[in-house]
Amino acid sequence: MNHALSPAAGPTRNEVRATTRLYALLGDPVAHSLSPAIQNAAFEAAGVDARYLALRVAETDVPGLLRGVARAGGGGNVTIPHKGLAARTVEVPSEAVRLTGSCNTFWLAGGKIHGDNTDVEGFRGAMRDLLGGSPRGARVLLLGAGGAARAALSVLLEEGTGEVAVLNRTLRRSVAMAEALGPDGVRVLTRPAEARKGRWELVVNATSLGLNDADPDPLPLGDESQVGAVLDLVYRPGETPWVRRARMRGIPAADGRTMLVHQGAAAFERWFDRPAPVEVMRAAFEGAGGRGEG
Ligand code: NAP
Repeated sequence: MNHALSPAAGPTRNEVRATTRLYALLGDPVAHSLSPAIQNAAFEAAGVDARYLALRVAETDVPGLLRGVARAGGGGNVTIPHKGLAARTVEVPSEAVRLTGSCNTFWLAGGKIHGDNTDVEGFRGAMRDLLGGSPRGARVLLLGAGGAARAALSVLLEEGTGEVAVLNRTLRRSVAMAEALGPDGVRVLTRPAEARKGRWELVVNATSLGLNDADPDPLPLGDESQVGAVLDLVYRPGETPWVRRARMRGIPAADGRTMLVHQGAAAFERWFDRPAPVEVMRAAFEGAGGRGEG
């Protein structure tokens, strides 16, 4: 457990003391991240003497800052584009970090810097919320082959999914991802047409399509006879156009906000070794602009 946890002596809102520990999000860009709102609300609810800040950091500064923040008694998260570098920087990578090559959470324990990829747990939680349970036996289409896709694929394979097909704009990246995580359990699609004619119980968007208004849908949707459910890892104010279109077709759908809250809760639990105040975190997310227009 980290020494920032001292419930009896928890600070009041906005109070920063000499004992207050720094938790930092390292990424570029970070200005629009909702993690500070979510984590500071959780820290306050839990009476943790710590503050969470988002720091825009160049690649060359990541290893030094990560080590320094952790050794000063804090910890933090890592986001685009530094998750791979963080995986190579931490001293004790979790199994999830080794499997995905990606680290989004770090902290100090026993004098060593530990790293985990809580996107894995975040994805599992969001998928179970959407499906009402495990995807065991289901046919799943995964779009993308970046860090988020690797986290998703590791969960899908572990959960005993019936068939996982992956489709990515750059074929060599989906081939490399399948080879790294489970060549026997993964079918790599080479053309979007193969995905469009399939019948999928779940389609997961782990590309960044949907972040911008002008983006095309990650996959044009038929109706609920072709697609059973849609999980978009992208989130933005309101909901993503793809999720909105899925709902209009009667397809159960969720965007990336549930995953964000689940991965943040898992990070809190790594840092402080106690259950996260998940409902507080969810409410902070909604209040900070995770829901609503614009
Ligand atoms: P990443 O490693 O940079 O991967 C980006 C992926 O998107 C790659 O598969 C890339 O394909 C694909 N892509 C990008 N532009 C595209 C385009 N114009 N057309 C088709 N495919 C395109 O990023 P990441 O970390 O995996 O994140 C992916 C998305 O998931 C981001 O939007 C991120 O915000 C979201 N995410 C959400 C959560 C959450 O908690 N909700 C957590 C992690 C990530 P190529 O390989 O061809 O470049």
